[in-house]
Amino acid sequence: MDCVFCKIVKKEIPTEFLHEDELVVAFRDINPIAPAHVLVIPKKHIGSVADVSESDEKLMGRMILSAKRIAEDLKISGNGYKLLFRVGRHGGQEVGHLHLHLIGGAKLSENIRPVT
Ligand code: AMP
Repeated sequence: MDCVFCKIVKKEIPTEFLHEDELVVAFRDINPIAPAHVLVIPKKHIGSVADVSESDEKLMGRMILSAKRIAEDLKISGNGYKLLFRVGRHGGQEVGHLHLHLIGGAKLSENIRPVT
């Protein structure tokens, strides 16, 4: 499958991992929107949250706990951060491999209103 995040998981695209375990990997977003912008992704290909099933409960928990620990490692936890799943077209998802954005290191604006 021609999926950029699958290629990162398989190390076909050289990428420094901030975290790797048997279920997920995490790496810095190539186009960061904040001082700290990390993506946590499952190793197995899942298109989006819309494709997650009950058998993925452990994986989803691992993604969130990994993000929490990375936020602590990056020392952005004290001031807080955002965790974001984009889902599909209206959600603004561009890469069709499930990913959790960890965004922080600065006060973030709210920009989630419908496009007018
Ligand atoms: P989304 O709009 O939620 O699908 O976000 C996809 C994110 O993946 C964007 O923030 C991109 O900057 C990021 N991205 C795309 N390709 C790469 C890559 N090769 N390495 C790191 N981040 C990437």
